Amino acid sequence: MSELSHLGIGTGLDVHAFCEDRPLVLGGVSIADAPGLLGHSDADVLTHAVMDALLSAARLGDIGELFPDTASEYEGISSLVLLEQVRRELKKAGVSVVDIDCTIAAEMPKLAPYKEEMRRTLAGALGISKACIGLKATTCEGLGFIGEKKGMAAFASVLVRKGA
Ligand code: MG
Repeated sequence: MSELSHLGIGTGLDVHAFCEDRPLVLGGVSIADAPGLLGHSDADVLTHAVMDALLSAARLGDIGELFPDTASEYEGISSLVLLEQVRRELKKAGVSVVDIDCTIAAEMPKLAPYKEEMRRTLAGALGISKACIGLKATTCEGLGFIGEKKGMAAFASVLVRKGA
């Protein structure tokens, strides 16, 4: 088998609506002075996109299958706890993370001051180097549900090695 046959790619997309009465958590980091996101867990849209990309790359399904939003044990749970569980599932399947790249699409708040901490936090939960995680944020120039500040989206692409 060639080297390439041991690599896998995955993509993840997640969307959550803003709501006023919850804290905003992105990549496991609490963001001050911003509305939170609506969801069954802590609604950490970035961590959800990363988990879906990883599970897809490992061909292990998706977060809806692993952590159903009908299950009371996941209500309000930190998505970092779920990410650590994904890490264990990957390990069991002999899959290791090579690289991750993410984008958050949000009209607000300003995320630049938090990006390094988000990378460090996600890397810590996955047991990889911060250098293996790219993260950027963009606005949508006032267009659509993101531009109208109704919610935000996150995208993640991952590369994994299988048979590790
Ligand atoms: Mg989600």
